[in-house]
Amino acid sequence: MKNGLLIGRLFGINIYLDWSWLLIFLLVTWSLATEFTQMHPTWGPGLSWGVALAAALLFFASVLGHELAHSRVAQAQGIPVGHITLFLFGGVANIQQEPRTPLAEFLVAIVGPITSLMIGAICLLIASLFAPMPAGAMVNPVLAFAGAGPLTTLLLWLGSINISLGLFNLLPGFPLDGGRVLRSILWGATGNFRSATRWAAGIGQGTAWLLIFTGIAVCFGVEVPFFGSGLISGLWLAFIGWFLSSAANQSAQQVVVQDMLEGVPATRLMRENVPTLPAWIKVGDLVHGYLLGTDEQAFPVVEGDRLVGLVTLEDIRKVAPEAWDTTLVAEVMTPVDRLTIVQPQDNAATALDRLVAQDVRQVPVVSNGHLLGLIRRRDIMHWLQLQAPNGVAR
Ligand SMILES: [Zn+2]
Repeated sequence: MKNGLLIGRLFGINIYLDWSWLLIFLLVTWSLATEFTQMHPTWGPGLSWGVALAAALLFFASVLGHELAHSRVAQAQGIPVGHITLFLFGGVANIQQEPRTPLAEFLVAIVGPITSLMIGAICLLIASLFAPMPAGAMVNPVLAFAGAGPLTTLLLWLGSINISLGLFNLLPGFPLDGGRVLRSILWGATGNFRSATRWAAGIGQGTAWLLIFTGIAVCFGVEVPFFGSGLISGLWLAFIGWFLSSAANQSAQQVVVQDMLEGVPATRLMRENVPTLPAWIKVGDLVHGYLLGTDEQAFPVVEGDRLVGLVTLEDIRKVAPEAWDTTLVAEVMTPVDRLTIVQPQDNAATALDRLVAQDVRQVPVVSNGHLLGLIRRRDIMHWLQLQAPNGVAR
């Protein structure tokens, strides 16, 4: 989701504003201004709107801080980050690979909520230095706002919204950070990524239903600490539950896809008789003799029927056209010892895992050094589309 307005670049990451952001920004500013006017009748419209605008801007800056925290830790773990998009309900960091280890996933996920909680705690701490909290303010936050000046009001609001954001993101459901934290712990404990995903999706679903039922109960007068009571609080809780439930559904579907692929031998989705080339031909001959006139993106390089490497469109692009007739395929290919391969006894889920983990379009199927064929990402997608006409895979 790259649509939106490019507003800047930080640590090599482009930051985009989604258009929906403008709407929510106006809505937050307007509702805060209304709230401040009611809370502080002496302020006048200029001050109320000014504080509301500053609060809304700083809130979005803290959402950006949350996403940057995820991104910086991902980068430190060697996972590239494409861009950050700030949209309706917060932000999304486009982290381009699944983390390779439970610890990496844990660190990338947990740092976001920790950042929000820390921003929140610092704001509340500074606010309490400016104006000592009245007795009972911890139980009933509205008391803290009564009689507070503009700066204290700003800090109190910013502090509590960031703490809510941090806590909300810790709920154990995908795609919230808490869901990823939970999965990383289960993954670390069991060593099985897929069953950890399945469990985390299930627990997310359970949490979602719990929130929906609690929300309905609150609508009918039950009181819940922190969220209070009444129709609006109840609907809000139920809405969050519904959002979590649809998110959990999506990750459950991913698991369904993986389960479907697990039952399929890799060799069934493999293309046999793919065009191969010897390592000693020139890149120019590859382009004219093989590449033009096919839609192949990759060619296995063989000696006899032994696989020695793979040459792809990207490898060829790195060679300047002037050098095509002096460069050998052997010089630009990825040699077999650095290739990700699949063995004939592997299943299609393993093949897809490797395609995704290495971020490549195809993997060779190899048995004792002999090339059997090629599995391409689009062949797996094609097969899934045939199996699930109602749209599990797109
Ligand atoms: Zn996050």
